[in-house]
Amino acid sequence: MHLAAQAPTRSGRLSSNVRPHVRNKFGLTRDIPADIKRAVRQRCGFGCVLCAGAIVEYEHFDPEFARARRHSADGITLLCPTCHAKKTRNLISVRRIREANAAPAAMTVRYAFSDVEGTPRRPFVKLAGMTLKNCQIPLEVRGFPVLAIQDAEVERGPYRLSATFFNSAGAPSLFIRRNEWQVFADSWDVEVVGPSITVRQGPGQIALRTEFVPGEGLLVTRLEMLCGGYRLSGNVDTLEVRDPGGVGHSFTRCLSDGSKVGLSLA
Ligand SMILES: [Zn+2]
Repeated sequence: MHLAAQAPTRSGRLSSNVRPHVRNKFGLTRDIPADIKRAVRQRCGFGCVLCAGAIVEYEHFDPEFARARRHSADGITLLCPTCHAKKTRNLISVRRIREANAAPAAMTVRYAFSDVEGTPRRPFVKLAGMTLKNCQIPLEVRGFPVLAIQDAEVERGPYRLSATFFNSAGAPSLFIRRNEWQVFADSWDVEVVGPSITVRQGPGQIALRTEFVPGEGLLVTRLEMLCGGYRLSGNVDTLEVRDPGGVGHSFTRCLSDGSKVGLSLA
């Protein structure tokens, strides 16, 4: 078993592993090398092998951590915190974990998912260098709402955020559907750390890094996207847009408040 509940560090931030340097009787620490973690994520389709939940922890199941001499991707799987707790409490058998590892739920449904906390006010979107407040359609490309925020369905209900992000080859990298986000099981890599999701389309190639601000909004801090012939490239401060004719536009620390459509690329 790999303990994965999060513990505060001295800096006040959360670490991803409890006591990562504690060793088992063979001297193995709980620090799983990054390339092995990535191989496990890829094999499992970036979700819990039992339920496809995208908030995951690493579980040594074959053998269990106490009897492991090395970290092997084949012997580690992904479980969400709920399924992991059931396994730890012996409410799920090792046989069931083995079966799910051989046919991960996210590979069957083709995506892993989780939810976004709904907001009582229209959430803001900070799309790289462009901050959009009180906006129904923060980004539209050729009439397609790449980012959209619908009103609450009922009084005092949550606003509903939807988005479709594409990578630099024009393939979808992340969906948000009315406050549920989905990442694709055939992605090269998806890494969820705290409130941040990073989608990579190859080694060192970040297609998207986004961070939820619970109850407030959404930050997009890295973006390499091709959509409708437009190439969008963004970091924390600046959004660069190159139109199909190769003409570039740059937006640095821009603010739009109260417009129905934020950025429209026709
Ligand atoms: Zn699960």
